[in-house]
Amino acid sequence: MKMYSRRDAIKIGSAAAVLAAAGSALGKETLMAATMPAFDILGAFKDGVYVLPDLPYDYKALEPLYDEETLHLHHDKHHAAYVKGVNAALEKLVAARKDNKFEDIKSLSRAVAFHGSGHVLHTLFWHSMTPGGSKAAGDLAKAMQDSFGSVEACQAQFAAATKDVEASGWGVLAFEPFSGKLLVLQAERHQDLTVWGVTPLLVCDVWEHAYYLKYQNRRPDWVDAFMKMANWDFAAKRLAMIKG
Ligand code: MN
Repeated sequence: MKMYSRRDAIKIGSAAAVLAAAGSALGKETLMAATMPAFDILGAFKDGVYVLPDLPYDYKALEPLYDEETLHLHHDKHHAAYVKGVNAALEKLVAARKDNKFEDIKSLSRAVAFHGSGHVLHTLFWHSMTPGGSKAAGDLAKAMQDSFGSVEACQAQFAAATKDVEASGWGVLAFEPFSGKLLVLQAERHQDLTVWGVTPLLVCDVWEHAYYLKYQNRRPDWVDAFMKMANWDFAAKRLAMIKG
């Protein structure tokens, strides 16, 4: 993995916030400049537009906990739609600025936040799982201990919070830069980042499309399966990048 400065890492982490603000305040050109290093890392931004990144593993690699059919739908259809949506909204904003006509600013701003956040979170989500899971170790384990009492307590809180997200949303382990500590958050839907400025380290998708084919209404079973694939090594790398 390429190394980036702390400043770049903060840009990476706050990409959803940047995207949310972009609709009303920033131009596409500004957005590109601010976020390019971030999306280079995970293959989600290329040649001036957001792109659907490849999965970091084969579609069958997470079987039987996460089935191939769901992963195909989730990545190839749902995530792809977010990519298309954010690019389309940003294009319309280019035209709006050019013509100085902002009558659609509310819906376009919402579209940037919705599709942009969907793109950021799904990109992180694919990396938040790995075949067989990985262990929380090193500085991440220390940060979990410092912020939650122990690695196990952090993981238990993450699973409990994720199971209990109201309606559609996400469980998020994040770095909160004011305190330098980690937080577990519930993001309802995903336009709402809930604590602005946090850097997501590990995320779990609990929109029904993420698990319904295999787990139906049994969201706790899906989250338990996710915890067995959880990629704490990815979370550790993101934490190192931010602190670096
Ligand atoms: Mn999803």
